[in-house]
Amino acid sequence: MARTSGSRILEETTIESERLEGLAARIETSGDSSSLEVRTPVTDEPIGAIPACTADDVAAAVDRARSAQADWERATVDERAAILERFGDLVLNRRAELLDVVQLETGKSRQHALEEILDVPLTCSYYAANGPSILADADRSGAVPLASDATVTYDPVGVVGVISPWNYPLTLAMTDAIPALLAGNAVVCKPDERTPFIALALADLLAEAGLPDGLFQIVTGEGETVGPALIDAVDYVAFTGGTETGRTVAERAGRNLIDCSLELGGKNPMVVLDDADPETAARGAVKGAFTNAGQLCLAPERIYVDDRQYDEFVDAFVGATRRLELGLEFDYGPEVGSLIDGDHLEGVREHVESAVADGASLLSGGRARSDVGPFCYEPTILTDVDPDSRVACEETFGPVVSVHPVSGIDEALERANDSEYGLNASVWTTDRERGRGVARKIECGTVCVNDPYTVGWAATDAPMGGVGDSGLGRRHGPEGLRRYVDARTIATSRIGPLDAPPGVPPRWFARFMLGLTTIQRRLARWLP
Ligand code: NDP
Repeated sequence: MARTSGSRILEETTIESERLEGLAARIETSGDSSSLEVRTPVTDEPIGAIPACTADDVAAAVDRARSAQADWERATVDERAAILERFGDLVLNRRAELLDVVQLETGKSRQHALEEILDVPLTCSYYAANGPSILADADRSGAVPLASDATVTYDPVGVVGVISPWNYPLTLAMTDAIPALLAGNAVVCKPDERTPFIALALADLLAEAGLPDGLFQIVTGEGETVGPALIDAVDYVAFTGGTETGRTVAERAGRNLIDCSLELGGKNPMVVLDDADPETAARGAVKGAFTNAGQLCLAPERIYVDDRQYDEFVDAFVGATRRLELGLEFDYGPEVGSLIDGDHLEGVREHVESAVADGASLLSGGRARSDVGPFCYEPTILTDVDPDSRVACEETFGPVVSVHPVSGIDEALERANDSEYGLNASVWTTDRERGRGVARKIECGTVCVNDPYTVGWAATDAPMGGVGDSGLGRRHGPEGLRRYVDARTIATSRIGPLDAPPGVPPRWFARFMLGLTTIQRRLARWLP
């Protein structure tokens, strides 16, 4: 690719435009595909181009993956784990380039890009350490004690399609791919068309770690073409993105009779109880609502504060928010970066302006900041929000949060649960046991106590996912690995067919079976 005007911004990074061209060249196409420009939100300039894969290109990538998978399935789990551990090391060691690519593609602050880097080696190590036991054959009770037995084996489904969004393009391209590979599958990943280069850089590192050719492929292009073609060719889909796209993915997967996990949007509540420390809760609100400029599926967008804490909490929250530093430097320092593009900026602006038109008050922020970057928006706190306004009901996915006083736990719970979504929530209290009790009553896949989302997300051993419009299935933990395998039961009989032996009259055999069933039911109760 010839140097474009976008290469001016490349000069601020460790990345050469030739490097991005080399990454794009990893994508195999028939040559009939057109190309798509990739722009950086840091300056809104082009930085490179990727192929817009056709449906045939996608089918060919899945065929290559399927051929490579047969040998990979025969490797031991420990052999596969060793390669993923090496990959985790490489991600850490090559973080300077990866951080630059993530920042270039998303405009996020470096500290939030680093959170993406750290997630990958932790996920690799968790599954490398625990995968062998989670995938080991398991003995189960047989149909007839002593006369038969049953063993469960876990076999890879084949080829897994990973469809990932732009907001955490490094983490979300890999966090579902790592367990899929460990389980013995091949992976074909379709990153968002705005953030393809980080997924390609990761493919490079997987190859360097020793992953056999063809096992991890990237297909790029528009979701509406590439997504359906991928779902039609693979054996499982791990999708992360918006709820409406998730519904189309589930419909197509259903038609193909393949399984899928859907990690979708949220309108996450944060509940501050009467015994919370307002300063601590305010620190959590800043971290939760404004990490990655609020473009985080787990971010709180609605905060319910007990009346008795409201004024102190709001003072601390507004003060800390106003102190946040906005900026787009390729270095640690700024705490809030850019939104992904102009369309998204318009959506965020519209949510805030319509809320204000409906009577909401701005406690902080509320303005685009083109002086910082073309798509930057101030961290914004609203109050007196009309419960029917868009900002109250729909996911904003930007640095915007509303604060509401509530009369106690009952009102907080009622309002927290008044949503079609159910992804993540948090409860703030000085009594963790009380917090756990309140958490059990919130209808979300994850509820964190005294932290907005990190303790839940980073607990790699614990499942993560949504209920309601926030999705289906779970990533992380044993659940996040078992979704990629078919459980096969192998049952054997020591006495031949479980049927009446030759010469035994059917009436006697019927009596025997009734007696046996009674014994089995008693045993099941006494020896669960
Ligand atoms: P989208 O649903 O628009 O896009 C997500 C991915 O799906 C992209 O790669 C996109 O490709 C692809 N895609 C688009 N159309 C189709 C289709 N018809 N079939 C298959 N794939 C398709 O999501 P957003 O870009 O709006 O991402 C933000 C959303 O993701 C938010 O709602 C957020 O809450 C959610 N999210 C959820 C997370 C979770 O873990 N629960 C984590 C992070 C984000 P392309 O854009 O290239 O066309």
